Amino acid sequence: NTFAEIDLGDALMENIKRCKYVKPTPVQRHAIPIAVAGRDLMACAQTGSGKTAAFCFPIINGIMRNQMGVQQMTRGEYDRVACPLALILSPTRELSCQIHEEAKKFSHQTSVRVVVAYGGAPMNQQLRDLERGVDILVATPGRLVDLIERGKVSLSIIKYLALDEADRMLDMGFEPQIRKIVQQMDMPAPGARQTLLFSATFPTEIQRLASDFLSNYIFLTV
Ligand code: AMP
Repeated sequence: NTFAEIDLGDALMENIKRCKYVKPTPVQRHAIPIAVAGRDLMACAQTGSGKTAAFCFPIINGIMRNQMGVQQMTRGEYDRVACPLALILSPTRELSCQIHEEAKKFSHQTSVRVVVAYGGAPMNQQLRDLERGVDILVATPGRLVDLIERGKVSLSIIKYLALDEADRMLDMGFEPQIRKIVQQMDMPAPGARQTLLFSATFPTEIQRLASDFLSNYIFLTV
């Protein structure tokens, strides 16, 4: 019932302490070990449940653990095309910015770089941030499709995909964009990534999304 019981690595543990998280919330207690073990996960989580950390900790932990030479080389082949290792999709600018702020705190004083890209704002600053290098990209679906089509972002080496508030993304009509995005990741090798889907509700459409995007997943309700 502590973060220390989950093997998250020293740097991340330091940052968790700095954020004054003393003990995991229920969704964190159950989701983090499953995700750290590499399993796909569909989790029921409301706002305020601590879901942001529940998907950020395993992603940051995984990237730190596998800062792989192979990936760095692969990434060098792309000139000025951002190739994140992890993608966090969220429905709105506000939520994306919140996730970005939290993810930056969790990866403080590590090599993990977090960038946010959302619609309804000029692209210039986001492009400059992307060009400086990105490991974790937090994005809204529409803006991400735009960036991919302009050749600014490639999802060819994505290892982690998190969908936050998936039900809200579908309510907002983002399903075509989400499917387009996930298709990009399936191109090099389907199933090479780990997928974490968080949603407050589980209507048929979310279940269909889960069966299309997740493989051999664990369903968690707390
Ligand atoms: P979230 O549901 O991810 O939006 O988190 C809700 C709020 O709870 C945020 O302000 C987090 O920083 C905070 N929080 C998340 N996990 C913990 C924890 N284990 N201990 C204390 N605060 C937390």
